[in-house]
Amino acid sequence: MQKQLQLLRDLQEMDTEKNVVETERQAGLDEQQVLKAELDRLQQMVDSLAGEISVLKDEQAELVSAKALEQENVERSEGRLPQIKTQKEYVAVLKEVDTAKKLFKDLQTNIDAKDEILSSLNADKEEKDGELTTNGEQADARCAEVDASMVAVNKKLAVMERQRGGLLEELPKSLRKRYELLMSRRAGLAIVEARGGACLGCHMHLPPQMFNSLFVLDEIQSCPHCSRLLFVTAPD
Ligand SMILES: [Zn+2]
Repeated sequence: MQKQLQLLRDLQEMDTEKNVVETERQAGLDEQQVLKAELDRLQQMVDSLAGEISVLKDEQAELVSAKALEQENVERSEGRLPQIKTQKEYVAVLKEVDTAKKLFKDLQTNIDAKDEILSSLNADKEEKDGELTTNGEQADARCAEVDASMVAVNKKLAVMERQRGGLLEELPKSLRKRYELLMSRRAGLAIVEARGGACLGCHMHLPPQMFNSLFVLDEIQSCPHCSRLLFVTAPD
């Protein structure tokens, strides 16, 4: 019985340590994920800016073509002026020229406005590009560091898993099942010390007779409150 109890305590110690290592491993994986998500977010911003810039450039190119067309209209109308015979026709052509000139000016204003937006978007994109490069390098370096530590952590876990398997094999099947069930239902703590008349797993008092029997009875007992397996170290 004492041997089984010792096996269970060794197993508990190992599982508690394994939990710590697994938590460490998960923290590393989570950190990598956060870093990658941040890079993805930056990349999306850069892509979206590039998309906006491309649309604006297309719109601007259309305005430039329209402006060239109005320029031609002005020149053509003005070219007709010397050949005009009547006052009425003269006024009509002058009006055409005026209209074309006004359109030309409006188009130029629109083109200039797009220029302003474009230069602001380009500056924004340049900044985000820079951030992406810097953060990308930092994230790569950190991820490589985490990867390197993961190799050690995974090795450690594999060793623990092997040792754990060895301990489990030495336990009778029923006790093994009881231990594993308690581990899953009692927050990773299956076997605890009873001290000063109380279970140190749930901190409830044990019936005095039961507590005393832990020192003499030759069987593994459970806490009546939390069902965890109990051991004692020295009589109080
Ligand atoms: Zn308890």
